[in-house]
Amino acid sequence: RAEIAGQRVAIFKPRIDDRFDATDVVSHAGARMRAIPVSSVAELEARVKDSEVVGIDEVQFFEPAVVPAALALADRGVRVVVAGLDQDFRRLPFGPIPELLSHAEFVDKLQAVCHRCGGPATTTQRLVDGAPAPYSGETVVVGAAEQYEARCRECHEPGVDAARAVSAAA
Ligand code: ZN
Repeated sequence: RAEIAGQRVAIFKPRIDDRFDATDVVSHAGARMRAIPVSSVAELEARVKDSEVVGIDEVQFFEPAVVPAALALADRGVRVVVAGLDQDFRRLPFGPIPELLSHAEFVDKLQAVCHRCGGPATTTQRLVDGAPAPYSGETVVVGAAEQYEARCRECHEPGVDAARAVSAAA
């Protein structure tokens, strides 16, 4: 909408995420917009220049410095729009998201469709070889031989650590 209104818009995304396309932000519905991949918050700040609207996609993957950076931009009149996952696969708050939520003037919480039951999905299920990933796994594993599914609260399955599974079986 900002681009249609003729405003100077810059959209950034973390370079970590190249699942789809190196330079476009692609929604799961297929809509795409040009985005600048950056490796750090410092690089993002250096490339904002005179943008009137700054979008940051997959913001959960940025380091904590993205919060003061977004606040500094907003304080000097830039409209900042960030998007990201609010929870990791363990259903814990994801990276800088809690702080961004508390500072935001407006928050839209979106829901996906649960892969299991078709209901409104608010969680992300990480699967390794089709089974829930262990709770102790790394939070960010991009491009690994894993799958992610949107799940509702009822269908989300907590991953069991192999060590815990062994001791429970003993
Ligand atoms: Zn479900």
